[in-house]
Amino acid sequence: MKDKCHQYADDTTLYAHCKSESLQDAVVDMQSSVRKLEEWSSEVNLLVMDLILEKLDNYFLTPYVYPSDWHADDWKRQLLTLFLLMNVGGWLLYIISASFSYMFIFDRRLMQHPLILQNQIRREIKVATCSIPFMAVPTIFIFLLEVKGYSKLYWYDRPQQTWGNFVLEIGCSVVLFLLFTDFLIYWIHRWLHHKSVYKYLHKTHHLWKVPTPYASHAFHPIDGFLQSCPYHIYPFLFPLHKIVYLSLFLAVNFWTVSIHDGDYRVPDILKPFVNGSAHHTDHHLLYNHNYGQFFTLWDRIGGSFRTPDAFNGQAPIDFINKQNIKKEE
Ligand SMILES: [Zn+2]
Ligand SMILES: [Zn+2]
Repeated sequence: MKDKCHQYADDTTLYAHCKSESLQDAVVDMQSSVRKLEEWSSEVNLLVMDLILEKLDNYFLTPYVYPSDWHADDWKRQLLTLFLLMNVGGWLLYIISASFSYMFIFDRRLMQHPLILQNQIRREIKVATCSIPFMAVPTIFIFLLEVKGYSKLYWYDRPQQTWGNFVLEIGCSVVLFLLFTDFLIYWIHRWLHHKSVYKYLHKTHHLWKVPTPYASHAFHPIDGFLQSCPYHIYPFLFPLHKIVYLSLFLAVNFWTVSIHDGDYRVPDILKPFVNGSAHHTDHHLLYNHNYGQFFTLWDRIGGSFRTPDAFNGQAPIDFINKQNIKKEE
């Protein structure tokens, strides 16, 4: 009798033991097992819930929160989890990244600027905090479609692929993601400035003439949702690795904080191309220029590009510096 046993340690490891005379059979057997394992793995990856949702379910929600007969695949339970996750996670991400920026990057002397409102930071935090639950309502339905496998998000569907090709593919998807979302956000943002829409939706974000990092998420909820739509549309049109998607999601949040942090430094070589804090500061002050999110490309094409005042020593912080020099004289 063949002395053989297969032991599955996890979904990627396979052990087999056999006598040397039955080695040939064991190889065929092993190959078939690996094939089945691959099929099972890709099937599960199509059905598996989003990475964060899955971990939350396994380690916290299923054992401690939801009743045991409420199945983890139930869409109502998934929606509720996504809603809680978006509120708690979104708020923590906002407050931690904005606070980090406020403490270590933002020049707090800007708080003396005459265009800073009374209690501005408290008001920015209040607007952002109140908006997040309302923004979450339409967003969780898009997340649910992703979780149910309707998007082109993938985990690892081409086991034969080389590392070189994999890295190239990831690099291309990051570039395409940034170009695609920058294009859509530019036009959505421009539309939000149309006189028939501006006062209802986008004016809230322009209350802050000289923004602080806490203004980064301080939008009317419909405005915030509309400007986030391009990030959600992308994975329904183009394949995107799940980890890359999560990383981009975090990176986009940090970028949004960074264009409100009043740190105008950009490497000289990137100055013509990157829409940074200098550009967005002018957007808050002058309204009709520099609508872009990551790049200056669409502002140049759309005729709304303006060289930021910060590049000519006329940023809000330069105003403070001049005031302070005058006081010392
Ligand atoms: Zn802004
Ligand atoms: Zn605007």
